[in-house]
Order: sequence, then structure tokens, then C-alpha cells
Amino acid sequence: MKLVFATHNANKLKEVQQLLPKSIVLLSLEDIGCLQEIPETGTTLEENAQIKADHVTQHYGYPCFADDTGLLVDSLHGAPGVYSARYAGEQKSSEDNMDKLLSQLKNQNNRQAQFKTIVALNLPSTKKQFNGVVEGEITYEKKGEDGFGYDPIFKPNGYDKTFAELPLSEKNRISHRGKAIAKLVNYLKESL
Ligand code: IMP
Repeated sequence: MKLVFATHNANKLKEVQQLLPKSIVLLSLEDIGCLQEIPETGTTLEENAQIKADHVTQHYGYPCFADDTGLLVDSLHGAPGVYSARYAGEQKSSEDNMDKLLSQLKNQNNRQAQFKTIVALNLPSTKKQFNGVVEGEITYEKKGEDGFGYDPIFKPNGYDKTFAELPLSEKNRISHRGKAIAKLVNYLKESL
């Protein structure tokens, strides 16, 4: 079957395709001719993931799944959360976002945070959501060269390295997105 992953990110697509049985052919938004950014107008990760999946189902007629991720910092009452990508402005700069977060947490000892991913799946007869969470803390400075987004300032619990210092295979094994996608893959394997 053909299944759309509502993303423009070729790396994410490749990663997930490798986890799926060969009978499922994954298509990107480019593959189905959806070239624009789907507006993320929701106020929760659940809403935004569903908006993206529904957009594809309604306008293109494909079974589809979409993901949405946020970094939730305890002492900031869950911020930046659903606004993680544009925390420091619409330019969506990871450096600016990290600098803003580090300055918000200056003099703050409670640095507990979690990454959370929601995956929304639309099949012809059913809709499902899966989540994945990784707990950790925000470091005092950036460390590591790999990864993207807030990786250089997020240290998962039980590790003395940031996500940006861990090999990608290790990050994927323990990460929010890795866990949510694993639930999606299990569900697809069992139900298709
Ligand atoms: P998205 O929903 O996957 O586009 O994620 C929204 C924002 O959360 C991204 O722009 C990043 O700033 C941040 N983010 C998501 N996943 C990760 C991750 O694995 N590491 C670091 N930052 C992430």
C-alpha cells in the first residue's frame, strides 16, 4: 500500500521507510505534489499532527501520517512546547531558539524537560495517534555538533552527553520520535 508521511524532510522519510515492511511504500509531500507548508494552526501537538494528516487525506485522498514535536520545559510551564520551532521568531533559527531558552533558564536550577512527539495516522477506516516521550534536562551550554534543533542543549536522563554528542542510531533508539514511530510501525505491521 502507498502511505504518505506528511513531511518535507527527506531524512525523516528515509529513516521511517527503513523501519517499515516492504509492502508499505512511503511517499513524501513532494511525491504527491503538495509543495506548500501545511499551516500548523493548532495550540497542541495533537491538534497540529492531526491538522497535517487531515490536510493530506482531504486534499489528496491518501492514507497518511504526520508528526509534531515539542520541547516542554518544566520550569517554563511546558514552553516552548508547540511553538518550539519558532520560539525565538518566525525565522525558525535553532541557534536563536537555544540562545533564548538558555537565557530564560539563567539562574534556574530546575532544568527538567521532555521532548514529546505525536504521530497522527489516518487510514481509510480509522484514525489513531501515538506518542513518544524522552525525559532529560537542559544543559548550561551547547555541546556537540550532530543532530538539529535543540539537540546541543538536551541531555537525556541516564546519559552524560547531549543528543548532539550521541550517535544518531543511539538517539533514534531512545528519542521521542523514535518511540512514537516504533508504535506506529508496530500498529501498521499488526493491522495491515
Ligand atoms: P517538528 O514538529 O519535528 O518539526 O519539530 C518542531 C521543532 O522541535 C523543531 O523545529 C526543533 O526545533 C524541535 N525538535 C523536534 N525534534 C527534535 C529533536 O529530535 N532534537 C532537537 N530538537 C527537536
